Amino acid sequence: MSETTNQNLTIRDEVVVSLEYTLQVEGEIVDSTGEDEHIQFIQGYGQIIPGLESQLYGMSSGEGKEVTVPAEEAYGVLDEDALGTVPRDEFPPEMPLEKGVALQLRDEDGEVFDAYVESVDKKSVEINLNHPLAGKELHFSVKVLDLRPASEDEIAHGHVHD
Ligand code: ZN
Repeated sequence: MSETTNQNLTIRDEVVVSLEYTLQVEGEIVDSTGEDEHIQFIQGYGQIIPGLESQLYGMSSGEGKEVTVPAEEAYGVLDEDALGTVPRDEFPPEMPLEKGVALQLRDEDGEVFDAYVESVDKKSVEINLNHPLAGKELHFSVKVLDLRPASEDEIAHGHVHD
């Protein structure tokens, strides 16, 4: 494999971006690539949160930026109706149930959907169908580690190849 560096390449569609990031919500770090770690994605393919992707255009390798993403462009606004109650005994007794635990539930039609535990008592489990970050403004601190044009194969497949 030959190492190609593109000093003049900036982020545009069909560029493979290697990005280091820290995500803060309400002043708390909720996600981070960690030091010397990164995510890789093809710009313009909706592989990351839309409100973050749209603010990366034009950045160069080595550049850092603070990006604020409103809830509508992240995990959506909070749906107050998306709450429900499930009897405790419908869950396996050994299942760890506590606030924030992700669940996959099945409705009467057999459709699988994601939910999160909101609260638990002896008899019932309150579930929330909203993503835990729904309704939250996201604060990203990002650094572009590397950029290269996506290959024809990567564009055809819609994902990054190693
Ligand atoms: Zn592929």
